[in-house]
Amino acid sequence: MANDASGTAAITVAVRVRPFFEAAVDSTGDVGLRRIVQVVDDRILVFDPVDPNSRNQTRTYNHGSRRHKEIRYGFDRVFNETATQQEVYEGTAQPLIDGVLNGYNATVFAYGATGCGKTHTITGTPQDPGIIFLTMRELFHRIDNASSEQLVDSSLSYLEVYNETIRDLLCPSPSNQSLDVREDDGSNRVVVAGLSEHRPKNVDDVMQMLIKGNENRTRAPTEANAVSSRSHAVLQIHIRQRDRAAGVNASVKMATLSIIDLAGSERASVTKNKGERLLEGANINRSLLALGNCINALCSERPNHIPYRDSKLTRLLKYSLGGNCRVVMITNISPSSFHYDETHNTLKYANRAKNI
Ligand code: ADP
Ligand code: MG
Repeated sequence: MANDASGTAAITVAVRVRPFFEAAVDSTGDVGLRRIVQVVDDRILVFDPVDPNSRNQTRTYNHGSRRHKEIRYGFDRVFNETATQQEVYEGTAQPLIDGVLNGYNATVFAYGATGCGKTHTITGTPQDPGIIFLTMRELFHRIDNASSEQLVDSSLSYLEVYNETIRDLLCPSPSNQSLDVREDDGSNRVVVAGLSEHRPKNVDDVMQMLIKGNENRTRAPTEANAVSSRSHAVLQIHIRQRDRAAGVNASVKMATLSIIDLAGSERASVTKNKGERLLEGANINRSLLALGNCINALCSERPNHIPYRDSKLTRLLKYSLGGNCRVVMITNISPSSFHYDETHNTLKYANRAKNI
């Protein structure tokens, strides 16, 4: 059984530091923003390093303390701000492709606070496309090369989880009704009833679909960021393969690759939201919390109860996180002291996912 929902998980935790551009954006000149992340090498970074050469030493944004925390973190992979989309792809999603073509589900997700580079990493732009585009390009290529021996069917779906409701990003319904998640334990699959499936002809079609889909993502103005995205965007690529030579009785290999642009991980309290926005915050925390709890449970030595049912996102990913699935978490952080608390919290979350 390729994709059951138990068993020890293999999770790879990567960190990508986005470029430091706050200082340049600020028109009032020096506001005391400083760099709070130092990438040591491709596996180690230091949060809030002591920099004896820094002139800004005594007037930094240190949020309560003048002492530098100087915390060293090790991850499976650290990408500094000069890393290209191709390098990030090669170090995260590309190693999953063999498994997916062999029938094993895999999941890549981008985690981090709003403004720290999740959408850039997952979608990017037509000029500088991200992981979904680069993954699809390689999949199209591989499927093409195998087409003399294999019958391959691939399809895409793109949805968002917003306030614990599921919406189709490619065919949004005007009624805003939540689509139902149905678990099929017989086939170890999760089906979203009524979700549209698409068969793009080429990789440029994929980019157009993404841009359209992202425009349909729910956005809400908040104090922290006017275009803060409070939804989890989930792209799923379904691959079904059958040997041409083996005839009608041949077994079908099926796998799903999920690539997810999570909602901003900043806490509701940071944005001081009220009413509806606060409810959203609570639900986002619920999905992110559930995701963290599932990953931690799966990584423990003897996983028994995995709390998939605690949120829509984790129900959706029931057969895409555990068992023989491979999971890559890309942690997006900002190097600027403007995001001091968010970056600290994000690194702690990522470190927990790795340690257990
Ligand atoms: P998020 O989706 O996490 O809220 P974005 O991906 O929208 O963050 O990134 C915020 C801004 O920073 C965008 O303008 C984006 O283009 C830019 N950005 C993020 N990461 C990078 C990067 N590695 N290189 C260049 N620009 C980046
Ligand atoms: Mg985004």
